[in-house]
Formats: sequence, C-alpha cells, structure tokens
Amino acid sequence: MTVGIVSIFSLFILLAFWGVVILALIVVLKEIKKHFKGGTGSTGRRRVCPQCGKPVKDGQKFCTDCGAKIE
Ligand SMILES: [Zn+2]
Repeated sequence: MTVGIVSIFSLFILLAFWGVVILALIVVLKEIKKHFKGGTGSTGRRRVCPQCGKPVKDGQKFCTDCGAKIE
C-alpha cells in the first residue's frame, strides 16, 4: 500500500511544519515577554551590582553603594 505510506509521510511533514511554526511562535513570545520585562526605554535586562546586588542604572560604570565596577 504505497498510498498509505505517502499519506502518513505527508501527515508527518505537516506535523513537522506545524511543530516548527509553534516553536517559532514560542520563541517570539518569549522575546516579547523579555522586552516588556525590561521596562520602558531600558535596554534588555535590569542590571544589578555584582558585589552588593543593588540596582544599577544604565550607563553607570561603578556601584553607588559599594563602588564595585559594573560590567
Ligand atoms: Zn554595589
């Protein structure tokens, strides 16, 4: 039965296609979520001091609390 094999194969291709589409959608949604978490205007994730963990503003080179260098 070659017709059965072909139909199963096409079904598999269809499933693989939708799998890729859904995966892409999940990645896009994650990116959108990340963007909204970053707040308004700030670039990417919120930065904190590696030494004391206090929030650090964008463009700040040193921590205002402990003076540690910010990467
Ligand atoms: Zn600090």
